[in-house]
Amino acid sequence: MADLDAAGRKELLTELGLPGFRAKQLSNHYFARLVDDPSEMTDLPSAERDRLVAGLLPELMTPLRAMQTDDGQTVKTLWKLFDGALVESVLMRYPERVTMCVSSQAGCGMACPFCATGQGGLQRNMSTAEIVEQVLAGARALHRGEVAGGPGRVSNVVFMGMGEPLANYNAVIGAVRRLTDPQPDGLGMSARGITVSTVGLVPRIKQLATEGIPVTLALSLHAPDDELRDDLVPINNRWKVHEAVEAAWEYARTTKRRVSIEYALIKDVNDQAWRADLLGDVLSSYGDWGWVHVNLIPLNPIENSKWTASRPQDEREFVRRLIAKGIPTTVRDTRGREIDAACGQLAAQG
Ligand code: SAH
Repeated sequence: MADLDAAGRKELLTELGLPGFRAKQLSNHYFARLVDDPSEMTDLPSAERDRLVAGLLPELMTPLRAMQTDDGQTVKTLWKLFDGALVESVLMRYPERVTMCVSSQAGCGMACPFCATGQGGLQRNMSTAEIVEQVLAGARALHRGEVAGGPGRVSNVVFMGMGEPLANYNAVIGAVRRLTDPQPDGLGMSARGITVSTVGLVPRIKQLATEGIPVTLALSLHAPDDELRDDLVPINNRWKVHEAVEAAWEYARTTKRRVSIEYALIKDVNDQAWRADLLGDVLSSYGDWGWVHVNLIPLNPIENSKWTASRPQDEREFVRRLIAKGIPTTVRDTRGREIDAACGQLAAQG
């Protein structure tokens, strides 16, 4: 279902010898009614129902485990894909919104040394439908009132789970389209509610700016200088700080969306006052028209790593210096650390 657009679904059903118009009915169940159980699709003739579901809604992934914290308002799910690959997604409920953090690859090839996912390498890209289904699973659970806080809906999606979304570009764009396509062809979300986070694959950032879908871009910078960033985000050996920041600035200019610079504060590694100043200078060199804000993430510890989060006073000083340079700065409220569901902790160990 979610791999195809409306025309593709119709075509597939026709190929399967089924009436093409049933595709719309199935889409309505999946994206609008948030139903995936064939027995609830009573407008479909029972003789055709199983074949329709097998054709357009085959089971893509099975939940192996769900872990909760924050009184059930943060839920991490471990999924087994059809070929045995494991990925994780996280639902985070806040008073005014529900954010689904989704994976775009099983594993990740970017090898950032502070990130749990990066330690195991890339297993494979996920398909559009596998990405979308993580969101739909959350949407169904909310719709049925299964998440603490009563019935609700997914308002935000962040590509901050496992994988580098821009290294799986076509599938990720397909997923963004399915999430934003109006119901019943898609989930009907606003592009503003979707954030694509990247290590800084410069040509792909430029391409993303041309898609005409103004998603929010987050650039995982983590260091304002190439010497340190070469180690923290190894793709920096290919595209340097100034190239990544310039691409992000261009993205903001083209889409009119404010970009977010992600910066995990690591004690005595990247949290020095002079680096805050340098980061402020690098970003303000592109002007102060509100194109950027910095989102500081207290480092979430991963296994077998000597790195930890910054001291509170160093974090405060880092924020103060960025603000003094006119850069809007926030510190991320980290959720789900206790269940290894926070940024950079997703490892999908069965
Ligand atoms: N590949 C994408 C998405 C990764 S996860 C990217 O790199 O942007 C989203 C964010 O979590 C990234 O900014 C990533 O650098 C950050 N992150 C990774 N490991 C972390 C950790 N241990 N603590 C805090 N943030 C981490």
